[in-house]
Amino acid sequence: MSNSPYNPFETAQAQFDKVAAQLGLDDATRELLRQPMREYHFLIPVRMDDGSYKVFKGFRVQHNDARGPAKGGIRFHPLETIDTIRALSMWMTWKCSVVDIPLGGGKGGVICDPHSLSEREQEQICRGYIRQLAKNVGPLSDVPAPDVMTNAKHMLWMLDEYEAIHGAKYPGFITGKPVGMGGSLGRTEATGFGVIYVLREALKNLGIDITKTTASFQGFGNVAQYAVKLYTQLGGKVIAISCWDNNDKKAYTFRRKSGMSIDELLGITDRFGTIDKEKAADLGYEVLPGEAWIEQDVDIMVPAALENQITIDNVNRISSQVKVVLEAANGPTTNDADKVLIDKGIFVIPDFLANAGGVTCSYFEQVQCNMNYYWEKDEVLAKLDTKMTSAYRAVYELAQSRNLTMRDAAYVIAISRVAQAVKSRGWV
Ligand code: GLU
Repeated sequence: MSNSPYNPFETAQAQFDKVAAQLGLDDATRELLRQPMREYHFLIPVRMDDGSYKVFKGFRVQHNDARGPAKGGIRFHPLETIDTIRALSMWMTWKCSVVDIPLGGGKGGVICDPHSLSEREQEQICRGYIRQLAKNVGPLSDVPAPDVMTNAKHMLWMLDEYEAIHGAKYPGFITGKPVGMGGSLGRTEATGFGVIYVLREALKNLGIDITKTTASFQGFGNVAQYAVKLYTQLGGKVIAISCWDNNDKKAYTFRRKSGMSIDELLGITDRFGTIDKEKAADLGYEVLPGEAWIEQDVDIMVPAALENQITIDNVNRISSQVKVVLEAANGPTTNDADKVLIDKGIFVIPDFLANAGGVTCSYFEQVQCNMNYYWEKDEVLAKLDTKMTSAYRAVYELAQSRNLTMRDAAYVIAISRVAQAVKSRGWV
């Protein structure tokens, strides 16, 4: 976000440049893939509940659509920047490619803080966003979804506006819709569960028994909640979770060394993922400073909040016990910190592989919308597991055979597929 010295777009470009050089990509392909193909910047005027008007700034970035319609979420955040959206759109291209679904990469955002907006005001932002973009997005060109601080309700308002403008039903225009309104069962769980399917495979490769592991999480939004749920179901023990406290405007880490209970925590968490400190203390949780999540003696660390969280300034606080960093957020590790993690021998499962479960289920949602026939939840989750597991295995095998980090191996697979697509289409 904007108050960080790190620029996520520069991070994403540096990651791309490194692998593009290793792959020997020609100059035109590199130039095409290291930046977005299209960007839309627009203003969304909204009449607020008190009768005043506020003007919000929105973006939609389409990084690449050679493999299919651009795909990616829309986030609401007060510190949103265009460079963050650019980076996220680029990571979406690699994410869809590494799990081999026929979609490209896009991302959108609005600079706003939903914590201080009423439902009606949020609805007006959603509808205004689509009014500005209605000609440039669609089921066959660019398909939005939820992201940070947006959810199924926002998606349905956006769909409704899109359908009103175009005068027909287009359920495949947007994913992450409510179940029963064109949404897929399992979509809410998909990102968090996908993260843990990948972890399960990684622990097998590392010869670690999941039931003997402990974990520390950063973030307690949708992704972290379902990841914690499945990880504890598989026998893992979460001992720390850090989350944003919207009342105090700072983060706290909650810790219980005997293990944390997801059901207990969900009972004392609000819709933005803020855990109630007093109730937590009553349940035997220690309340520590926000950064404490990073220095716990655990086997697995899961950054599941925002970008630029593991940096050169805090990476050396990570315990020597940590064996796996599982990137559930997009871009949580800066490139300089990533090098330190590798030097420490930590197995880093990169973001665009680890958290690809969300978009993979979005793809299933589109397929179901196109058929107008909806699968049972078990079927959705089984297909998701198959896709995530095979993507993980392909990356792991390449990393082993070419002595690459998991991040670089994931990039080699993802970039090669997109480079092949732009070449086959005759673009460069
Ligand atoms: N916002 C999610 C992501 O970063 C999901 C995107 C989608 O489903 O299109 O992967």
